Amino acid sequence: MLVNSVVIFRETLEALTSVLFPAPCQICDSVLTNASLLPICNGCLASLAPFKGPCCATCGRPFLSEIATDAAVPLCFACRRSTYGFDSARSYGEYNDRMSRAIGLLKYERLTRLGGWFAARLEEKIRAEPELFAADVAVPVPLHPARQRERGYNQAELIARPLARKLKLPLGAYLLVRTKPRPPRLLLSRRERWQTVRGAYEIRKGTRVDNLRVLLIDDVFTTGATLDACARALKQAGAKSVAGITVARVLSRGSAFSGRPAELSKNQTSVGSI
Ligand SMILES: [Zn+2]
Ligand SMILES: [Zn+2]
Repeated sequence: MLVNSVVIFRETLEALTSVLFPAPCQICDSVLTNASLLPICNGCLASLAPFKGPCCATCGRPFLSEIATDAAVPLCFACRRSTYGFDSARSYGEYNDRMSRAIGLLKYERLTRLGGWFAARLEEKIRAEPELFAADVAVPVPLHPARQRERGYNQAELIARPLARKLKLPLGAYLLVRTKPRPPRLLLSRRERWQTVRGAYEIRKGTRVDNLRVLLIDDVFTTGATLDACARALKQAGAKSVAGITVARVLSRGSAFSGRPAELSKNQTSVGSI
């Protein structure tokens, strides 16, 4: 009884304290002075900036120089080699330090309201190029069931659910399944990223995607291997088109080519083969 009273007292005190002394910005630790629904200061929100300027017409990779955009349909090196299985992809902004902290809040702290904020940004991106994103269903990139059980939720779905609502699309969170788990190591090389997702996604048994135009949603575009593997699974099952959208994109400035390693390109229809 006494223990219960102590717990209740402590919870009440914490609730009061959080009103009187709100938690600092979850990204930079500065005191929050704005009355926002997000525990992120205005400066940090402003630094989660959208890409501006020319990009690859297919995968959305921003061009760092104007020279690359001379062609009528500007394509990056990877897309000139038809690397990806999706028809098009775009990302909201760069995966920099603050963006990585923000995505971490979504991924590990289940900050649902941030999912809504990102969804609003992605909606703007989609409305700017509606022809790329004509879709019948919105599908979040799934986690492996073991990972989802452990985490309790899928961060891509925290973005996809409010985005589907804004776009008035049905949410097809059940359509794709990840059948191959991600290796436990946190950091993977570019080659490993491609290898670990190859054939890692399937259409859920008993569902159909024939002739559907799919909008795939994920948090980060690193090498494009994940969106590629999902798109190949969807297309093999008859999807008409697949457009991907992610909140952030990793820009590999050191390497001009972030696409599928050459030795993996030979078997372009390898979905489900592992
Ligand atoms: Zn901040
Ligand atoms: Zn490209």
